[in-house]
Amino acid sequence: MIEAILHRLEGVKQSGKKWMAKCPAHDDGRPSLMLSEREDGSVGIHCFAGCDTESVMHSIGLEMKDLFSDSLSPRDKAQYRYDALMSEFNSHQTLMKLYKYEIEDKGFGGINKQNYAIAIEKNINLQNEMRALKGKYKL
Ligand SMILES: [Zn+2]
Repeated sequence: MIEAILHRLEGVKQSGKKWMAKCPAHDDGRPSLMLSEREDGSVGIHCFAGCDTESVMHSIGLEMKDLFSDSLSPRDKAQYRYDALMSEFNSHQTLMKLYKYEIEDKGFGGINKQNYAIAIEKNINLQNEMRALKGKYKL
């Protein structure tokens, strides 16, 4: 998990789903290490000064495998996936409200109608996948 990596670093700052920290693999005056957590729980690391990820991990006493969430149970992984699907679903819902407003209240059909239909279809697919995850992993 990313917390296990972050608490070994200095000068950590979060912005959204990304973190910046001082790179432990070179003499870093200001944070140039970027970290991100992917939806499957694995961690991405990038040093803007060019250190390779392996050196960064070794500098804080960790291995490359610690970037990957093998420790996560299948259920936890499914939960991550579910949460990602849910946030995608919610953003489509917001868009659909906008399309609906443009079509019904402002009379802008055309592309809005197409986009609305696409969003509906996407959300049906998302709902199906979420339902399948819920059933399989008892989320
Ligand atoms: Zn570095």
